[in-house]
Amino acid sequence: MKIFVVNCGSSSIKFQLFDMIDETVIARGQMERVGTDEATLHITSDGMDFAPDVVGKTGGENHRIGLKTILDAMISRGVIEAVSEIEGVGHRVVHGGREMSGSHVIDDEVLSVIKRNCELAPLHNPPNLAGIEAAMEEIPHAPHVAVFDTAFLATLPPKAYRYAIPEQWYQEHHVRKYGFHGTSHRWVTRRTARLLKKNISDVNLITVHLGNGCSMTAVAGGKAVDHSMGLTPLEGLVMGTRCGDLDPAVVLYMASKGMSVAEIDTALNKQSGLLGVSGRSNDMRDLLEAVAAGDKKAALAVELFVYRIVKYIGSYYTILPALDAVVLTGGIGENSLPIREGICRGIARLGAKFDAARNEATVEGKIGPITTDDSELPVLIVPTNEELLIARDTKTVVAETD
Ligand code: ADP
Repeated sequence: MKIFVVNCGSSSIKFQLFDMIDETVIARGQMERVGTDEATLHITSDGMDFAPDVVGKTGGENHRIGLKTILDAMISRGVIEAVSEIEGVGHRVVHGGREMSGSHVIDDEVLSVIKRNCELAPLHNPPNLAGIEAAMEEIPHAPHVAVFDTAFLATLPPKAYRYAIPEQWYQEHHVRKYGFHGTSHRWVTRRTARLLKKNISDVNLITVHLGNGCSMTAVAGGKAVDHSMGLTPLEGLVMGTRCGDLDPAVVLYMASKGMSVAEIDTALNKQSGLLGVSGRSNDMRDLLEAVAAGDKKAALAVELFVYRIVKYIGSYYTILPALDAVVLTGGIGENSLPIREGICRGIARLGAKFDAARNEATVEGKIGPITTDDSELPVLIVPTNEELLIARDTKTVVAETD
């Protein structure tokens, strides 16, 4: 059974084609700079890494044309013979609001939920929707399934998801914490339960996703009970370009200095975080190189990044009934040795004993601890695989509705 997984951003289309018989990846790739003359398509299949093609506007004018170009390229490169081989399409959808928990075959109702929640996720849901509409046109014979990023976080109790604001804001405008990266936290929770040889309902974890966006989830008995992102992905940890936690009065203060809502929005979402503090880059690799070369602003950005993570782990430690492990994932969690070391050392008082040799050995997709065997609190590296989880959900939902 071939399942195609699609993740559309505002200017990108990421995709993977799975053979669900043995869960192998037949092809993966991405189109970037969709809508511009520089649109490029990069496909990897069967160990072959095709050089990126500049497809420009002809091949990537919008998500629909981009998707058609991707499907045509998979046919011309012999990855598939025809689009009809695809038996299900899984879509990552960022915001399902209060209505959607779990994964669903996309029908008019699901489409209207995604549309309704565009207001709450203006940067994410509209491109997700464009991708769904494009894929439904280009792959009309197959069922399409929406896997919501908010789904795993639907179990948060009111004390975690409500903000202490006027109730009317919650009732009328649905202002509350929703959380994001749920698919990654769900994957990591399941994978860690297997690693620890425990039932999913018995694991208590703090899962930390550190990519360009960063988030943390407190997991009690396999269920999310608190999470760092909020109404939007802006809240919580320091991220590549997002500020994370902030006194809301900062927004009012900057507005009083003459900044518009749109300018403040751009500053906090796109010019803050690691980029804002370092004045240099949102990419952890660049920053660590700059730190090694003696750049003080980069050093402060990295320090702030680690400090915020350690502080959050401390607070989640106190709300969980027990803690089996802290789990790190995402590009930084899976690869960045100094950041992992900083986190482990920062939570030494909670019982984490750092193991430098394990830290160096657990890279490039490897799974395992970076703490010693006698560490009271294990810190584990568990690579995320949101695409495979989306493919699995798609297969299950399609089978249930057959
Ligand atoms: P996204 O959230 O866009 O999916 P990723 O999960 O790929 O992003 O994470 C991107 C971050 O991971 C960047 O800050 C990047 O510098 C960092 N990263 C990726 N590989 C490495 C590496 N080998 N060493 C250090 N940091 C890395």
